[in-house]
Amino acid sequence: MSTATELITELLPQGVGSHTADGVRTGSGTAVTAHDPATGTALLTWSDTGADGARAAVDAAAAAAPAWQGLGAFGRAAALRALSAAVTADAENLARLESVTAGKPIRDTRVEAAKVAEMFAYYAGWADKALGQTIPVPGDWLTYTRREPYGVVAAITPWNAPLFTAGWNAAPALAAGNTVVVKPSELTPFTTLRLARLAEEAGLPPGALSVAAGLGGSTGRALVADERVGKVAFVGSVPAGRTVAAAAAGRGAPALLELGGKSANIVFADADLDAAAEGALAAVFAAAGQSCVAGSRLLVQDEVHDELLERVAAGARRLRVGAPLSEDTEIGPVNNRAQYDKVRALVAGARDEGARIVTPADALPGGVEPGGYWVSPTVVADVRAEHTLERTEVFGPVLAVTRFRDEAEAVARANGTPFGLAGAVWTRDVARAHRMAAAVRAGTFWINAYKAIHVAAPFGGFGDSGHGRSSGPEVLAEYTQAKAVWVHTGADPMRFFPSLHG
Ligand code: NAD
Repeated sequence: MSTATELITELLPQGVGSHTADGVRTGSGTAVTAHDPATGTALLTWSDTGADGARAAVDAAAAAAPAWQGLGAFGRAAALRALSAAVTADAENLARLESVTAGKPIRDTRVEAAKVAEMFAYYAGWADKALGQTIPVPGDWLTYTRREPYGVVAAITPWNAPLFTAGWNAAPALAAGNTVVVKPSELTPFTTLRLARLAEEAGLPPGALSVAAGLGGSTGRALVADERVGKVAFVGSVPAGRTVAAAAAGRGAPALLELGGKSANIVFADADLDAAAEGALAAVFAAAGQSCVAGSRLLVQDEVHDELLERVAAGARRLRVGAPLSEDTEIGPVNNRAQYDKVRALVAGARDEGARIVTPADALPGGVEPGGYWVSPTVVADVRAEHTLERTEVFGPVLAVTRFRDEAEAVARANGTPFGLAGAVWTRDVARAHRMAAAVRAGTFWINAYKAIHVAAPFGGFGDSGHGRSSGPEVLAEYTQAKAVWVHTGADPMRFFPSLHG
C-alpha cells in the first residue's frame, strides 16, 4: 500500500461514499479508481453511490434542516465558528490529503485549508446579520421582508480545488440557514468527505453538511433532479453547467453557475515589467494552470512584447516542478490522465496551427516519477485570434502569448471569447487602468496584480463563465429568498367592495 493510500485510509476510516447523518454509506455502482497524479498509479477504488447515494444525502440534509434552523441565527454563527476552528486544527491533514489525491503542491493546499477556515469564520459573521427591510409603501402599512433559506442546497464541485470549492459553496449556504449536500468530483471526493466529518464533530446537526459521492451522470444527475433541493450551485465546465442548469430549471429550481474562463492578462509598455512578468507566471502556472481564473492569455503591447516574452519564458524554465508533498515544489502534476492528454493535445494543436512553442510541455526536471501527469510550464507565442488556443480553456500550465498595438486592440482581443471570468491590466497610467477595468468583460479584474481572491469580495462570471455571485455579501441573496410581510396598521379595517357596506 502506498503512503498516499495509507493517508486516505487513515483520514477517511469510513471509506468513500455518501456522507449522511448515519456516517458514510458506500455504494455498489460503477467502480471509480483514484490515481496518484504524481505517479499515475492507482490509489484506491470505490463505488459510485448513484441515485441511492444522492437520495440518502438529501434525506439527511432535509432531516437536519429543522435542527439547523432551530439553532437560530446566533446558534448557526457559533456552529460555523466552531467548524472554522475545526478546519484550522485539522489543516495539515486536509492539506496533505488534498495534495496526495489532487496533485496540488503542499504549499498551496496549506493556504487553501486556511482559506476554508476563513470562509466559515467570515460567513459565521454574516449568519446573524441576514437582515430584512422595512419598506415605506403608501398607506397604512408596516411592510417588511424576511430572508428565508431555500431548504436544501446542492453544491456540485470540480476536481481542481476540491476542499476550497466545498467550503466556498457550503459556508454561505449554511450561514443563510440552508442545509447542504456537496457532490464533489468523482476524481477528488476525499477532502470534502473529511470536511463533512469535521462539521459533525464541530456540532453542526448530523446531515447539515452531507456529501453525495459519485459520478456526475448518476449521483449528480439524481441530486439535481431531487424535488427537495431548492437551489443548485454548480462549479465546473460550461457544458456540464448548462446541463445542470437546464435540469434544475426543468423542475423550477434556480442554479448559480461558476464555469470556466480564458482570461486576458494585459501588459502595456509603461508597466513595471518585473512585476508583470512574475504576475504573468503566477496567473497561469500556479496550480499547474488548473484554475478557473488562470490568466491563460498574455496580451503584450508591441514595444515590450519581446522583452516580456523572454522574461516570462526564463521564469517558466525556473519554476520548480515536483512532487506534491515536497516542501519546495511550486508546480505539481496535472490532476488526471484525461486532463493531461487534453493539455498535451492542445499544445500540439497550437504548434500545428502555426503558433510558436517557446518552452515545451515535456521539458521536465529530473526526479519526477515518469508515470505522473507532468506538464512543464509551457509558453506559446504568436497566438493569433483565430487559433484554437485563443478561445479554448486549457485548464493546464499553458500560456498563450500575443501582441497588440493599442488599447482598442487589447480590449477587442480580451473580449474576443465567450468567457468573462477574470482579467488584469499592468500599466502605470491610472486613467488607462480604470478604462480597462470598465471595458473588459469579466466578473473580476485586477490592476497591476493577478489572482487575488477573497471570500469577502464578490466572485462570478459574465457570459459563458456563468452567472450569480458566490462570495462576498452578495451571495447571501443567492441562498435566501425575500418574503414580503404586509401588516395593515389602519384604524379602520380594509374595505374592498362598497356593496358589502351600503
Ligand atoms: P465538470 O463540469 O466535468 O464537472 C464538475 C462537476 O459536475 C463534477 O462533480 C461532475 O461529476 C459534475 N457533473 C458532471 N455532469 C453532471 C450532470 N449531468 N449532472 C450533475 N453533475 C454533473 O468539470 P471538471 O472537469 O470537474 O472541472 C473543470 C472545469 O471547472 C473547468 O472548466 C474550470 O474552468 C471549471 N471551474 C470553474 C470555476 C469557477 O469558479 N468559475 C472554478 C473551478 C473550476
